[in-house]
Amino acid sequence: MRKKAWSWMLGLWVSCWVPILQAAVGEAQEVAPGVWFHEGDLVRRAHCNTGWIVFRDYVLVVDANFPSGADEVLPKIRKGTAKPIRFAFDTHHHGDHAYGNAVWADQGATIVAHEGVLKAMQRFETGLFGGAPGRWEGEARGRSDVARSRLVPPSLLFPDRMIFDDGEKRAELVHFGVAHTEGDGFAWLPKERVLFTGDACVNGPFNNAGDGSVLKWVPTLEAARALKPRIVCPGHGLVGGPELLDHQLEFFRTLRDEVKEFVDTGAGIEALKKAMPALREKLGRNERIRNFIGGSFDGMAEKVFGELGGK
Ligand SMILES: [Zn+2]
Repeated sequence: MRKKAWSWMLGLWVSCWVPILQAAVGEAQEVAPGVWFHEGDLVRRAHCNTGWIVFRDYVLVVDANFPSGADEVLPKIRKGTAKPIRFAFDTHHHGDHAYGNAVWADQGATIVAHEGVLKAMQRFETGLFGGAPGRWEGEARGRSDVARSRLVPPSLLFPDRMIFDDGEKRAELVHFGVAHTEGDGFAWLPKERVLFTGDACVNGPFNNAGDGSVLKWVPTLEAARALKPRIVCPGHGLVGGPELLDHQLEFFRTLRDEVKEFVDTGAGIEALKKAMPALREKLGRNERIRNFIGGSFDGMAEKVFGELGGK
């Protein structure tokens, strides 16, 4: 009993420090036993972050990455386990999270996603579905890894939730609603209290609402926050603790509220555009949310302006 208490305390101590002991980009980090996080090289190769969960008999990968990102991660998984990679989960349809699906499929994996991911692919990946060239073909012009690969859409789809549970490990793939895209999925490990967020939560100036909704982003993150994760593995940027989710949520709440004030005055989009530098500066004074202000800030402000009925 005493030994058990000791190991529990040691585990708690280790777990409290995990988010602080940050691994470098490209370094696999075991954030909980059998639960891995790998920060992709976003700056040079546009790679997203990847996670993997080692179950008793197989491995579940979280986010397929670009093909070159998948090629980079695969040997790092193989370093730790020879178990078959049976599933790869796309947190959403974007190329940096899903274009590497073929790499995992060639390993024998089935591609899993919220049904909104397939719907989005049918909408944007028109080339794959017999129409005019879509996003994939556009990306392939600038990326040799994409040009050499093929797009494999997810074929195992879930409406709200899908559960993997072998008695030892449990992973819940959950759709809480629209955020970064219409098909955002989270991977939640209730035992380890680890949450993989995809791009619904990032750690840095990487938000983009082009395929999603700023207004709906807030309740989606609130639902994720209610899980009370201990470790948050974002779609881009460093792994963090629950504060990362809090700050991401505060950023979108603040952006929404600031733009709403604008809409309420009856001012038009041109006035909002003019006020953008001041808006950036105002939000930038809040140290909890300044980290999220990047190149897509103006686009997100304009998006929520439209969502709020601004003219
Ligand atoms: Zn994305």
